[in-house]
Amino acid sequence: MIYTEKQKTIGKRVHPDTVSSNWKDWKWQLKHSVKDIETFEKLLGINFGSEERMELEETLEKFPLSVPPYYISLIDENDYRNDPIYKQAFPSSGELIINEHDMSDPLAEDKDSPVPGITHRYPDRVLFTISNICSMYCRHCTRKRKVGDQDFIPNKKVIQQGIEYIKSTPQVRDVLLSGGDPLMLSDQYLDWILSEIRSIDHVEIIRIGSRMPVVLPYRITDSLIDVLKKYHPLWVNTHFNHPHEITSSSKTALRKLADAGIPLGNQSVLLAGVNDCPRIMKSLVHKLVANRVRPYYLYQCDLSEGLAHFRTPVGKGMEIIESLIGHTSGLAVPTYVIDAPGGGGKIPIMPNYIVSWSTNKVILRNYEGVITTYKEPDEYEPTFCDRNCERCDLQLKLEEGDEYKSTGIAQLLSDNDNNISLIPENNERLGRRNYENVEDEDNKQ
Ligand SMILES: *Cc1c(COP(=O)(O)O)cnc(C)c1O
Repeated sequence: MIYTEKQKTIGKRVHPDTVSSNWKDWKWQLKHSVKDIETFEKLLGINFGSEERMELEETLEKFPLSVPPYYISLIDENDYRNDPIYKQAFPSSGELIINEHDMSDPLAEDKDSPVPGITHRYPDRVLFTISNICSMYCRHCTRKRKVGDQDFIPNKKVIQQGIEYIKSTPQVRDVLLSGGDPLMLSDQYLDWILSEIRSIDHVEIIRIGSRMPVVLPYRITDSLIDVLKKYHPLWVNTHFNHPHEITSSSKTALRKLADAGIPLGNQSVLLAGVNDCPRIMKSLVHKLVANRVRPYYLYQCDLSEGLAHFRTPVGKGMEIIESLIGHTSGLAVPTYVIDAPGGGGKIPIMPNYIVSWSTNKVILRNYEGVITTYKEPDEYEPTFCDRNCERCDLQLKLEEGDEYKSTGIAQLLSDNDNNISLIPENNERLGRRNYENVEDEDNKQ
């Protein structure tokens, strides 16, 4: 971890006595995180006009500002208005625009919440928000409604309730700690939460979502690593959006995590004016895999209030994915997703590779535009699945087999379920079907 000239300059502007060891101390960074516009101007050596300053103040009433000096040091002060770090960290009057389709909780995280802090959306995993503060408040945050708000800080009792919920819900095999940033908690407190969750038999994996490796890499201390590595299998997902965020300090943080045996993933958000460019995204994913981070998701910017100025058309994400698949290592290609408004979960979006299909051939196109034919087998003996795994020739015996009820499209595809359609609630046509001359049984579908 080097202490660059620029960091030295900014460090001195924070306090004339600042030395390298202060700068690399995450608690020093937090203590000196910039929370107001004047200090921001001072540290970067820039000046907003009074009119702009007033507009910016207004945005801060809706969503707080906090930027560690480290993250500020990544901004190019000579072209800060176009700078990807500046745009993610610093408010813009665009945040005050609320469009007709914007929502405060577009992902319905609060509606799918059995106890405070837990969102139980998918059958086998939960999202557990154990902190609602961050070292840097991303201007594109999807949880703007909660994050940074003192009224939402999960106290020990709330966390205990969440742990109880996981304990009493045996289908939960994957717990995702999020926030806010979970790594804002002290090592000791995290140690307690992790040990409680790890002691639950049915929890197979624990995941932590944190932006610390990006915005405050000094948080990844040896003592934090000593805590984390006790709770394997533990995965960490972080949130790099632009190649400029990959610095010698963030590389060190990633190396420490990876060396502790923690598999690393990255979740980017597609942001207008920040990374909505195939070349930038390609450079980012290459740098990630070179640092042992697997690009996991690329999110379409969602419909939270105040994000309108960050949103791109879906076609931009499609173009980026098209520019990656086949053109570079499969390992470097994230899954592009839209987190469904209303709480439907993440929906993957992919360019179309199937051109056509007959009874025995699939016509495909590759990334170069070459059209090719895959000949399907003439004889395929399908295993009819009656869900009796004991009698099945495939070698999965029942005690290993996960007992599950298929739902959704998987249910329509299954052999042993007679359901032939998924019908929206209050379907009008079916509502008309209470005709007297029709037997009830026929009335169902
Ligand atoms: C994203 C998310 C998860 C985890 O989803 P994966 O696709 O398994 O990474 C779980 N719960 C909620 C509410 C989520 O938004």
